[in-house]
Amino acid sequence: MRPAVIRSGLECLYAGGIHLLARPFFAGVGVILQFRHVRPMRWTDFQPNRHLEISPVVLDRIVRRLRRWNYDLVSLDEMQRRLVERDFSRRFAVFTFDDGYRDTLEWAFPVLEKQGVPLAIYVPTSFPDGLGRLWWLALEKVVAGNSSVGIVVDGDNRRFECATPSEKYELYAALYDWILHHKTEAEMLEKVTDLAVRHGVDLKGLCASTCLGWREIAELAADPLVTIGAHTVNHPFLSIAGETTVRSELAMGRTVLETALGVRPRHLAYPYGGRTQVGTREFDIARDLGFATAVTARQGVVKAADAERLTALPRLTVLGGFTARRHLRVLTSGVASVLWERFPRIDAT
Ligand SMILES: [Zn+2]
Repeated sequence: MRPAVIRSGLECLYAGGIHLLARPFFAGVGVILQFRHVRPMRWTDFQPNRHLEISPVVLDRIVRRLRRWNYDLVSLDEMQRRLVERDFSRRFAVFTFDDGYRDTLEWAFPVLEKQGVPLAIYVPTSFPDGLGRLWWLALEKVVAGNSSVGIVVDGDNRRFECATPSEKYELYAALYDWILHHKTEAEMLEKVTDLAVRHGVDLKGLCASTCLGWREIAELAADPLVTIGAHTVNHPFLSIAGETTVRSELAMGRTVLETALGVRPRHLAYPYGGRTQVGTREFDIARDLGFATAVTARQGVVKAADAERLTALPRLTVLGGFTARRHLRVLTSGVASVLWERFPRIDAT
């Protein structure tokens, strides 16, 4: 889904006042917001993952707006209590951050701490171990740092020019699709690793510079505002993994966090989490394993009926470029999610 299309959809809903009519019917009992990167704007010509980041100023504005709109900003435990006890007298909002990035500690946490806002950070344990393969960022670095990129397609060596920003965007999009079209994740990661090695990108270094280490995670975990949630070990595409792998990824991710932090995580986020990446099988396994809640990246507000499916909760992804007051107004009204439901292939990430 092109950002421009999403934006004009949101603008229409706002301009038409539809969100005002929709709010009482679709706004649900609360929202779980999903954030990726929070950091100051960078001024470079090529930023294919720009939509995954917002600035600290915007985060601060979101907190103030939600409070003005009478949302209670609560922890995952409190959200779960409200859902289980059917305590829906006031709407809630939960702030969640995926992957345990350094910028969550450096830029997002100070804003939320100052305002006393609880937050959850979902940590895939291979990331603080320095073994996470952040393939989408590696791809960005390969294209950004080279004026041409070579790949091997069906045994043929092929080279693509990417000297200008527009060539870079085009090549990034093509490589992204090419990577995702591999049948197994092992094959996919092998191709990314090969690409990175041949173009001077150090995957281990990228992981270490982007992700929090265990010491920093432990510091955050000790803060009463912070909940550390499980997010598997290796951040796999669960839907294409075998059942044994899914089960062990979910269970091991929790065990490793418990061993490292001394607290057993009660909450889970599925990696990627879109409609094609996670489904009923994963929701059932998470419930079997005893997770109190598990969140997806399926877009929507939380409804009273979600109390019956606590391991399949929807979120609203906060994307750069969609954080204006009117966009948030429409998103939290739930009407945009009603429309998105009609187009099941639209994932936010
Ligand atoms: Zn993730």
